[in-house]
Amino acid sequence: MEYSGPTSLYIDGEWVDAAAGETIETVDPATEELYATVARADEEDVDAAVQAADAAAEYGSEWRSMGPSERGQKLHAMADAIEEMKDEITLVESHDNGKTPFEAGMEVQMVIDTFRYYAGWADKVTGQYNPVPGERVNFTTREPLGVTAHIAPWNYPFQLAGRSLAPALACGNTTVLKPSSQTPLSALYYGLAADEAGIPDGVVNVVPGSGSGAGSALASHPGVEHVTFTGSTEIGKQVMADAAQNVTGVTLELGGKGPNIVLPDADLDAAAKGIHYGIFMNAGQMCWAGSRLLVHEDVADELVEKIVQRAESTPLGSGIDDDARMGPVVSESHMEDVLEYISIGENEGATVACGGGVDEAKDTGYFVRPTVLTDVTNDMTVAREEIFGPVLSVIEFSDTEEAVELANDSPYGLLAGIWTQGLSKAHRVADRLDYGMVSVNEYPVTFPQTPFGGTKQSGHGREQGEEAVREFTQAKNVNINI
Ligand code: NAP
Repeated sequence: MEYSGPTSLYIDGEWVDAAAGETIETVDPATEELYATVARADEEDVDAAVQAADAAAEYGSEWRSMGPSERGQKLHAMADAIEEMKDEITLVESHDNGKTPFEAGMEVQMVIDTFRYYAGWADKVTGQYNPVPGERVNFTTREPLGVTAHIAPWNYPFQLAGRSLAPALACGNTTVLKPSSQTPLSALYYGLAADEAGIPDGVVNVVPGSGSGAGSALASHPGVEHVTFTGSTEIGKQVMADAAQNVTGVTLELGGKGPNIVLPDADLDAAAKGIHYGIFMNAGQMCWAGSRLLVHEDVADELVEKIVQRAESTPLGSGIDDDARMGPVVSESHMEDVLEYISIGENEGATVACGGGVDEAKDTGYFVRPTVLTDVTNDMTVAREEIFGPVLSVIEFSDTEEAVELANDSPYGLLAGIWTQGLSKAHRVADRLDYGMVSVNEYPVTFPQTPFGGTKQSGHGREQGEEAVREFTQAKNVNINI
């Protein structure tokens, strides 16, 4: 399919070329061919987008004056528009990122669900009455922040942009979205959806551009009141420093090294299925990938055999191949990085139980075979660093206490999994895990209704659920002496 979607920046309700006339070329990772050319925003375009968003957020503007339930209707209308374009966005995402249509379709559906969930929140953001002494009325309201910036990564380009756009809009903010320059296409459909839904000009702006150019300009812009950044821990620290120049608040959704703890009483078939999905979905390019399997020594061999069987029978294929269950990784350089990690693992003593290289049967594309590394210890590079590819590191333990220690011994703390048939054990272990999210007997899972985020170097703040409503509003206290 040739790309026929939007190719310009979306600023103040208009589709415009980049001020400097620069463009970005995107390559289909399955065919290695040019897929689309879109405008590349620089500092000047980012400034224009922030100014448009600022004007749209002003007191008395159409968006600011709109009643909350009407704002909710607008979010429903955006969800409707995205639903209308679902098949097209799914295919575009598949070509741009390499993921299978099944995976891309799940992404788009999650965005539709998220917009509908936050549409319901728009008229339910309430304040509180405060019981103070004397003849006073004292209350607290929650107000929008103003202009919010959204910097999204390439692994779930559409979903991770929508995850923060929806609550920001529901709370009455105006937005500037910068997608990754590796996968800029699906984000532009938010401009189409905003147009279709009749969202006032300037409320949604989309500026594809480089991280060091447009991204940094957005994070350090004095007109921005909040930055939601989803990406690597390394860049997250830079974004936090950029935002600090203006004392701008940040929500950071960063990397992970998710442990799946398998206790000896677990249903091993269910665990093998979930663990396979949790590391090989999206070719392992997931912040919350279950990249460390912590398995009790009594069941390790049996479980690893089941996972290897599944890994070896996973059909690899391009984004438009209906039978494919795993696509290529996003780029040649990323493929090289993943292969380098596998050889570092081997050099440090790991054994390749399956995979371990590229798919030789493919003429084109950045296909890394699903890889399982055994004989891993928690101090090895493949257990400590985020590989962000289809590589599972297997670490054995002999008692539950040791499993908890291994799981917590990581710079990251995003999602941890527990596999057991013992409800009490699951509760006890979940209590001890220093993670933002814990999932028992399935992995990974999240919903628009539930908070998403991590501890330690996995991030700061939470997305989704009611937590996001707090992130995108600020308290104002009013005291009246009566
Ligand atoms: P990345 O390199 O950190 O980039 C993320 C975004 O930041 C991209 O839009 C990038 O633009 C931009 N960027 C780069 N340098 C910047 C700078 N100096 N200032 C402002 N923005 C800048 O991450 P990625 O490689 O796209 O994504 C993979 C990472 O994201 C992994 O570590 C993964 O764990 C993490 N992630 C976390 C979550 C979560 O919810 N916790 C979800 C998904 C992914 P360009 O791409 O155009 O350079």
